[in-house]
Amino acid sequence: MTGTYKSFRQSLLRGEVTCRSEVESYLGSVKSRGDLNAFLQIYDESLEAADRVDARVKEGKGGKLAGMVLGVKDVIAVKGKRLTCGSRILGDFVSVYDATVIDRLLKEDAVIIGKTNMDEFAMGSSTEYSAYGPVKNPSDTSRVPGGSSGGSAAAVAAGLCHVALGTDTGGSIRQPASFCGVIGLKPTYGRVSRYGLVAFASSFDVIGPFANSIYDAALVLEVIAGHDPLDSTSANVPVPSYTQLLERDPDSLKVGVAKETVSSGLSAEVRQAVERQLDILRSAGVEIKEVSVPHLEYSIPTYYVLATAEASSNLERYDGARYGHRSKDADELEDLYVHSRTEGFGPEVKRRIMLGTFVLSAGYYEAYYRKAQRVRRIIKEDFDKAFNTVDVIITPTAPTTAFKIGEKTSDPVQMYLSDIFTVSANLAGIPGISVPVGRDAGSMPIGVQLLGRQFEEETILNLGNFIEHSIGNMRETK
Ligand code: GLN
Repeated sequence: MTGTYKSFRQSLLRGEVTCRSEVESYLGSVKSRGDLNAFLQIYDESLEAADRVDARVKEGKGGKLAGMVLGVKDVIAVKGKRLTCGSRILGDFVSVYDATVIDRLLKEDAVIIGKTNMDEFAMGSSTEYSAYGPVKNPSDTSRVPGGSSGGSAAAVAAGLCHVALGTDTGGSIRQPASFCGVIGLKPTYGRVSRYGLVAFASSFDVIGPFANSIYDAALVLEVIAGHDPLDSTSANVPVPSYTQLLERDPDSLKVGVAKETVSSGLSAEVRQAVERQLDILRSAGVEIKEVSVPHLEYSIPTYYVLATAEASSNLERYDGARYGHRSKDADELEDLYVHSRTEGFGPEVKRRIMLGTFVLSAGYYEAYYRKAQRVRRIIKEDFDKAFNTVDVIITPTAPTTAFKIGEKTSDPVQMYLSDIFTVSANLAGIPGISVPVGRDAGSMPIGVQLLGRQFEEETILNLGNFIEHSIGNMRETK
């Protein structure tokens, strides 16, 4: 089992190890697993940062995350560092400030070792759309790690860092967590500040952790969650001490199974893995009920109308004039825009900009964008109703285990369908977590998704913790 921060921390506080030795060892692993292409940049000065944390730990002043070795998806700003978003258009762009999440993690003495690879602007489900080459799944390097936070998921799964940050707009934390066999937590929309996160679809985007244990994910959430005056959409809701709420007995929880999730695209092995979990929960005294989310089947088209609309507007700023790639081949302003964007963006981003511009255009706004907004509201109401009778809804995280590199790149709709179980949580703004529950016959990880009420991350973490322990040593590194 790959190291967790919790176990490292115990050794650190006993004086058996140092942050420097931990960071050194992780940097060594990053180098030896260069084939995964999980990291885009490595920060050599993380060793000095580790020394500073060691000094503070010695004085008894180490923070809550002292020596946590952290990877950060390259869509989150770290001051003085490149912020590429997996895109050529921002290839040389350097961030002038820290994102709020980075600020909070550093204040608690986490050590950032580098930036992880991702689908360009977080658009994708396989990390094949990175301008810097695809990431490989550590369990089988001929397969994708999922996406768009594939670099972060692969890094945590392969033991290249304790924890990594990802972002989830339609499933980009949960689906790669499931494909790589790690924990992936998408908090409630607004639970974590987006200040310093490059926007894809602003009404969906949220930052969250990948970890090798529920405890580590809960600990990181505790630090990054909470209101931020720099993000007007961050919620002013008190942050509970998630780590202290993990061990409660889940037998008072009511768990729902949405009957609509038994779709034709669901693999038999994934379905069986979810059913096994339900049996385990039943025998632990958890009440399992069937619930209905009747409009679930509309979640993919609704998401892909709204997310592309928001993306087309957010990505207008990359025009070659102010920052980012500027085409050398432009005599006039119009050419500057067209050539810089043509050269700077990859094919999936261009597809999204075109789709989004289309659904927002005068003749189609009512038919697509407005309609999708109304369906979004209906899906949210479906969940509200279901959560009147249950505390948690369980679904598979993804319909299949990790697919082969190249398998879906020529068919965007097939790629979009791998988000079938995750996007509805983003439409409704509710929290979700993917927990590894086993492997298929080909030894690829399978994850289940737990969805909760808004701002009730503690409930899904609690149930996730129970599942993690009932599975025991759920994940061996290969
Ligand atoms: N796979 C989804 C998409 O391509 C979700 C991406 C994300 O959550 N960032 O839009």
